[in-house]
Amino acid sequence: MAAEKAQALVLRTTDWSETSRIATLWTREFGKVRALAKGGRRLKSNFENALDLLTHCRIVFLRKSSGSLDLLTEAQVVRRFPRLRSDLAALYAAYYVAELLESMTEEYDPHPLLFDAALELLDALGSPRVDEAPVVGPYVVRFELVLLREVGYSPALDGCASCGGPVDESRLAFSCAAGGLVCPNCVGQFRDRQSLSPAGRKMLRTLQQPAEDALRQPWEAGVRREVRQVLSQYVTYLLGRQPRLLPYLGS
Ligand SMILES: [Zn+2]
Repeated sequence: MAAEKAQALVLRTTDWSETSRIATLWTREFGKVRALAKGGRRLKSNFENALDLLTHCRIVFLRKSSGSLDLLTEAQVVRRFPRLRSDLAALYAAYYVAELLESMTEEYDPHPLLFDAALELLDALGSPRVDEAPVVGPYVVRFELVLLREVGYSPALDGCASCGGPVDESRLAFSCAAGGLVCPNCVGQFRDRQSLSPAGRKMLRTLQQPAEDALRQPWEAGVRREVRQVLSQYVTYLLGRQPRLLPYLGS
């Protein structure tokens, strides 16, 4: 049994016994990990409330052989995001991120860039705001695009997702089944197609790039709504169900 150290975000905890909890953690080093926290329900445990939902913590755990739960031995808070307690839109967005991380990734499948993107989002949502820019929408979109790229479903926004050919710039059509834009030759095969405005495509493409200033651009409300709708449908399609938090997500 090797003792492993990791940075983690707490996605979920469930009671296991009178005194113990099972924590679902999303780690930078190992991806999703489920571990038993013995004594995790006692007020004064080794974990000192580090297992509160969406806390960024440092953990030590014993990795068990397949079939049995890993054992959490230490958890220390690195950061909490107190603003989430007072801003409902930010809280729902953070829960949505936790839900996507839990449902769209496998255990022991690490994606350090995705961990960083989740932390960047929580940092933006959970810190005192310096201006009234609508940070929730663009930050969530940035996170979703990193997630989709990491799990291999980055939406095709340049050429046709089906044949690779050029798309009709004046009548952009997006299909979840195809995995992005489709060209005039292929569009007939995809009945789930929906139109996408050039401004919507621009927002998606811009946020696919890692530049920080893309998040701060004054994206127009109608464009944000359109992008929200396209991504919501795409994520729902890939998951095979609507994410529970999706109806509460703003744009
Ligand atoms: Zn095509």
